[in-house]
Amino acid sequence: MAAVIDGNRIAQDVRAEVKAQAIDLKEKKGITPGLAVILVGEDAASKIYVGRKEKAAAEAGFLSREYRLPAETTEDRLREIVAGLNASPEIHGILVQLPLPKQINPDVVIETIDPRKDVDGFHPVNVGGLFTGRPGHRACTPLGVIELLDRSGIAIEGKEAVIVGRSNIVGKPLALMLLNRHATVTICHTRTKDLGAVARRADILVAAAGKAEMVRGDMVKEGAVVIDVGINRKPDGKLVGDVAFAEAAEKASYITPVPGGVGPMTIAMLLRNTLNSAKAD
Ligand code: NDP
Repeated sequence: MAAVIDGNRIAQDVRAEVKAQAIDLKEKKGITPGLAVILVGEDAASKIYVGRKEKAAAEAGFLSREYRLPAETTEDRLREIVAGLNASPEIHGILVQLPLPKQINPDVVIETIDPRKDVDGFHPVNVGGLFTGRPGHRACTPLGVIELLDRSGIAIEGKEAVIVGRSNIVGKPLALMLLNRHATVTICHTRTKDLGAVARRADILVAAAGKAEMVRGDMVKEGAVVIDVGINRKPDGKLVGDVAFAEAAEKASYITPVPGGVGPMTIAMLLRNTLNSAKAD
């Protein structure tokens, strides 16, 4: 039976460390990390995420600035706000909550953010930095996965890692991060042939497909580490991951639950990226 990785506890540890370092930065250099969070429109899930990020930033002792803009905001107006934040010495991290309304091209907006303040790690300069092994901000959710592995004492080097999902925000950056840590990495997607056979090769199996409980017990090698990034709401309202937890836990050595696994790590990593940005000031 697998050991359950407690993402809530690990995220709390990270947040406590970030808070202590933020206090230290204030005392020694007089700098308070500042995070600006921009929400355009009324997307219900985005409102919840943005609220959580603002609360977490305030709890860590950061300066937290909120911009709640109407759904009809133009791309130019949003870019103007971002440009203002780029120039603001109080702000070290800028987060534009996605998705954006149709009239705004998210790529254009992300490219407007100063890469040093791009604490989501989505700017092409930061993505390129990940690709080539240069410093820069890294995407928060995959960074959270790496942190969970590290803090659970799970070695990455030399391991066979299989990721189900190739999105720009989870699957692809995570593949690069695992590769940089010397895993042998396979990325799966909807055209992968015999997903089960590929998944069964994994010492570290990551599910990031957005398909409720698609990773079944028979896709998990005995003793594998199973990390579930998925967040799916079933018709009965229950929140489940991409992994059939009970079945997979029978085979795995470690497993993350949903909720309470990868989810809480994303915000913890956002705070850490913002702190790092303030430290580099
Ligand atoms: P996307 O929808 O952007 O990407 C899903 C990926 O999974 C695609 O590459 C897709 O393949 C692949 N995929 C989908 N179905 C299958 C299948 N049946 N077999 C193999 N591959 C499949 O999702 P995201 O990466 O944005 O998110 C993935 C999940 O993670 C979601 O549940 C999301 O809610 C969650 N999430 C959680 C976060 C957190 O904080 N914990 C943060 C971000 C996301 P193809 O490319 O071929 O279409």
